[in-house]
Amino acid sequence: MLKVENVTKMFGGLAAVSDVSVEFEAGRINAIIGPNGAGKSTFFNLISGLHQPTSGRILLDGVDVTNLPSDRVARLGVGRTFQTTNLFEQATVLDNLIVGHRLRTKSGLWDVLINSKRLQREEKAARDKAMEALEFVGLAHVAGQFIADITQEERKRVAFALALATDPKIVLLDEPAAGVNPEETVGFAALMRKMVDEKGLTVCLIEHKMDMIMSLADKIMVLDHGEKIAEGTPEEVRNNPVVIEAYLGG
Ligand code: ADP
Ligand code: MG
Repeated sequence: MLKVENVTKMFGGLAAVSDVSVEFEAGRINAIIGPNGAGKSTFFNLISGLHQPTSGRILLDGVDVTNLPSDRVARLGVGRTFQTTNLFEQATVLDNLIVGHRLRTKSGLWDVLINSKRLQREEKAARDKAMEALEFVGLAHVAGQFIADITQEERKRVAFALALATDPKIVLLDEPAAGVNPEETVGFAALMRKMVDEKGLTVCLIEHKMDMIMSLADKIMVLDHGEKIAEGTPEEVRNNPVVIEAYLGG
């Protein structure tokens, strides 16, 4: 599904991601763990086309997407959430989804404005798609509420819905359960499982909550200082001395 070959991203003299190669299989939950600053979010930015790698290749279903802009990558089936999601506070949940979908799949605000006639015709389809995503994440009942009036946990679910509304094949989730309580975390794990089981999606997840990762992930990649230091099943990673040294034991 996703094949990353020797990808490096330099920021000035800093290798935020350093010669990372990994494959994520379709229909699985893949996790990326590692300390703060390890390069996890940068890795997602490279896959989703927000950053161009300094070197290396990224293949999606065999298609080279290495230097494509993010709107093209989104249309090819990569959905994502961000560590912090900017939402329009004084707009409804539903409108946030409709606008978010446009901004993610068109090349810019200009494109959105200039094509407004065509977009009006697409409005109903976009609305239906957005409602479907909201239903899937359990937010249909707050579709008409303002973002400012929903809970922290509901905001996190809006981020999931945004990632789903572009009809992705693979979803990149950057710390989706950060700042939610343990009970809600169980709900998020169930939602990710449902994305795989009911939608046949491939999930790629950055998360610090080890209990969640260990029970949820099929495969884990461990990054440290931009380098892949380990990968394997939760069992393999848990027992890997390099990981224990660099991360779990630290
Ligand atoms: P993580 O998500 O694992 O905490 P990041 O990918 O956010 O780590 O960051 C990896 C490293 O790259 C950090 O040292 C960070 O400061 C640096 N970095 C991330 N984005 C940029 C950027 N746009 N410009 C310069 N340095 C960056
Ligand atoms: Mg990060």
